[in-house]
Amino acid sequence: MSEDKYDTEVRLVLQECKDANPEEVAKEFERYENEFLIPPRDALRSVVRKFMEPGSDADKTVRAPAPSVKKVSKFSELGSNDRNVTIEVLVVSYNSRAQQVRGEERQIGFGFIEDSPWDGERQRWEFKDWGNKSQDLAAGSVVRLDGVSVNEWNDKKSININQTSRVSVLKEGGAPTLAPTNEPVTIEDASRGEGTVAIVARVLAVRPDQIVRRDGSGSIDVMRGRLGDQTGTMGFLSWKALDISEGDLVKIENAQVKRFRDTPEINIGDFTKIEPYHDGAFPEAETLQANSSCTIKDLRNGMRDVEVTLQVVDWNSRSYTKKTGENGVIHSGEVQDPSGKCRLTSWVEMELEAGSFIRIQRARVQAWQGSPDLVIDQAEQLEILSEAPFGPIDASNHWVEENLDDLTSGGSRRSISTTGRIVSLRAGSGIILRCTQEGCRRVLRDGVCGIHGEDTGEEDLRLMMVLDSGVSNASLIVSRAPTEALIGMTLDDVRKEVSSNGKEAFHTSMKDRFLGQRMRVMGRSINDDQGCMIVAEELNVMEADPEGIANAVIDRWEVVL
Ligand SMILES: [Zn+2]
Repeated sequence: MSEDKYDTEVRLVLQECKDANPEEVAKEFERYENEFLIPPRDALRSVVRKFMEPGSDADKTVRAPAPSVKKVSKFSELGSNDRNVTIEVLVVSYNSRAQQVRGEERQIGFGFIEDSPWDGERQRWEFKDWGNKSQDLAAGSVVRLDGVSVNEWNDKKSININQTSRVSVLKEGGAPTLAPTNEPVTIEDASRGEGTVAIVARVLAVRPDQIVRRDGSGSIDVMRGRLGDQTGTMGFLSWKALDISEGDLVKIENAQVKRFRDTPEINIGDFTKIEPYHDGAFPEAETLQANSSCTIKDLRNGMRDVEVTLQVVDWNSRSYTKKTGENGVIHSGEVQDPSGKCRLTSWVEMELEAGSFIRIQRARVQAWQGSPDLVIDQAEQLEILSEAPFGPIDASNHWVEENLDDLTSGGSRRSISTTGRIVSLRAGSGIILRCTQEGCRRVLRDGVCGIHGEDTGEEDLRLMMVLDSGVSNASLIVSRAPTEALIGMTLDDVRKEVSSNGKEAFHTSMKDRFLGQRMRVMGRSINDDQGCMIVAEELNVMEADPEGIANAVIDRWEVVL
C-alpha cells in the first residue's frame, strides 16, 4: 500500500541508489510524511542520502559537518544542502492549500519571496510554509527567516519554512502606505497603495448615487465618478456634494486612497479640498477616455466605471422573483474580446444578438464563481457598434495563451490556454458519487452528503491533478467530458476496468500515463486565497514519452528501430 502511494518518488530514489530495497524506501517516505510532516517531494533528497552507498560521490556531500547557522543576504549564496539558514526577505505572495498529512487535512502555505528586501536588485524564489506561520507572512511584509532550509527539485531551489523555523516581522505587510505629500502625484502612483494623496486630474464621469446603510436605517447620498490623467484612471467616491462636471480639470488635496475589494478608489470627504486647475497642456477628456477603456484581461473584482468593447457570444433571459414578490427579468450572456471571455449581466431589459459588437460604459465588475464578470444597470450604458472594433474571433475556439506563472499571480480568467507539467494526481480522481438532491452535486463520502445526509448518489468521473510550471503551480480539475476525451475511455469503460482490476490499479495507470507529462490545458482559472485552480474544458498531452514516440515512428514507417 505505502509502496504504491510513493511509487514515483521510490522510482527516483532507485535511480540514484540502485541497490536500495523499494519497500524500505517507501517506508522511509511514509515515515517522513507521518512523523515529520514532510511530503514525499520534499523528503526526496534526505531519503536519497539515507540509501546512498557509503563512499559514493554523492555520499561525500552528505557527510558534511553538522549545519551551523548560515546567514546570507542573497539567495545566490545558498546551496541546495543548506539548513539552518537566516535571511531577510520580502513576502511577495502567500497562499495556502489543504493537504492530507497523517490522514488529516492541514493548511500548507506557499508563495513567493524575494531576497535583498531593502534594495532594488532582487531575486525571487518559491517557498513553502510547513509551520502554519501565515500570520507573520502577509504579502508585502519584510521578514527575517531563521532556521529555514533549502529544497531543490528539478534544478530549482526553494525555501522550506519548517515548524521549528522562526519568522520575525521587520515591516508590516498589506497595501503599502503612500507617503503623505501636498505635491500632486500621478494616478498610477496613487493606485499603488493606500493613504492621503493630492492629485491633478480630469473628471471623466460624475453622477449622484446612494449607499444603502447595512442596518436598514436608510441611505446616504454620495457622488461617484472617474478621474483620469496621462497615467491612468481611478474611480472616486465623494461623501459630500461636488460642484464639478465632466471634462473639468481639478486639483484635489487631502483625499484618501482606499481599496474596495481588489480596486483602489479615491475617497473625498469633509477635509478634501477640490479646486479648478489650469493647464493648457493637460490631455482632453476624450483622449483620456480612449486610454481608459480596458480589456477583459484587466478586469478585477470591485472595479467600477469600466469601459470595454465586446462581442456578444450568446445572450439569454431568465425571470426571477424580487424580494418584493414582483417578477423581474435578468439578461446575461457570454462576451469576448481578443484578451478573453467573461459574462455580462444586465439588470434592465436588453436584447442582444449573438455576434454583435457592443461598447459598455460605467460597468461594474463583480466576482461570480471566482471570475470577474461585468454588470450593467441602465440601458444608457450600452452602445451597439455598427462596425467591428476587432477582427473575427471564433468563439468556440477562443483561447488566450497565458503563462502559468502569470495566471497564478493575476486575476481570475476565462478562456485561457496554458501549459505545465503534471506533478501530482490527487486522491479523489476517478469515479465519484455525487449527491442527487436538486442543485447539490456535492461529492458523497461513504454514501453521505455533507448537507443532505445519506444519498444513493450519481456516478461522475473526474481527474484532480497539480499543474506545475517549475516556478508556480495550480490545482487542475478535469470534469467528466474532458476526462473521457483525455483518457480515451468513457465512464462505462472506467467502471468496467475498476470492477475487474480495482480502484488502485486504475489510479496507478493514470499516474503512469500523466505524471511528468507536459500538458496544454484550456479552460478557466480561479485565483483566490486558496491559490490558483484551473478548471479544464479541453486538455492534451504535449509530448509523448520516448517509448510512445518510438512506437509512433514504427507505426508510421513500419520499421523496427
Ligand atoms: Zn447534497
